[in-house]
Amino acid sequence: MTEILYQHGTLALLVPGLLTGTISMQSLLQHGDTGIGTGEGLDGELIILDGQPYQINGQGQIQTVAKTFTMPFADIHWAHYQPLGTLQNLTSTQLYQHLTHQIQAPNVFYSVKIQGQFQQLKTRSVNRSEPPYATLTQAAQAQHVFQAPQATGTLLSYYAPQLFHGAAVAGYHSHFLAADHSIGGHVLDFSLVSGQVEFQIFDTLQQHFPIDNSDYMQHDFAADELDHAIRKAES
Ligand SMILES: [Zn+2]
Repeated sequence: MTEILYQHGTLALLVPGLLTGTISMQSLLQHGDTGIGTGEGLDGELIILDGQPYQINGQGQIQTVAKTFTMPFADIHWAHYQPLGTLQNLTSTQLYQHLTHQIQAPNVFYSVKIQGQFQQLKTRSVNRSEPPYATLTQAAQAQHVFQAPQATGTLLSYYAPQLFHGAAVAGYHSHFLAADHSIGGHVLDFSLVSGQVEFQIFDTLQQHFPIDNSDYMQHDFAADELDHAIRKAES
């Protein structure tokens, strides 16, 4: 069975601030029921679980997302996760190392979903900006950081191989949603107390480009320090 990761836009287009929303949530949801993304103008962080999209806005408030909401960048897939077992008492670094070792798929895309209890959770989200949009580095400086000593919820990660850095963030890119919606966002750090871990390997990356967006079509990415800016803002 073909397992497809559908990606709209590239991580690299966020770097120079090409933040126009170029796909609607309605269109995105035709390609999966599980995903992550950001809104037009970096309008919050998005997480899609069981077909339901949620936005964690720049103030940390969590709300469901309208079908007309647009995004410059998103990843989505149909969930067919395989169980990896229960993991306990790991820092984020230890967890990611463990996953890399267990899953043994460093050169392909995969997703990891963990439902459980977390500690020292640190997330971020960004307020929507208006054109002319901020660069990713500027936006990251204005990010809002949210922290919870304890949280129960879902961590959704996408792993991208090193050779796709730029199209995505090489390594793990994780978003979180608390079960009680008390905290969520792009994950900066955490430790796992205990969680049920599942993973799904993709054999196909379907990369969708915003060809109707002239700013993207005409932009010269050679002038952007992509590698540095993505690492600094996204990891
Ligand atoms: Zn993110």
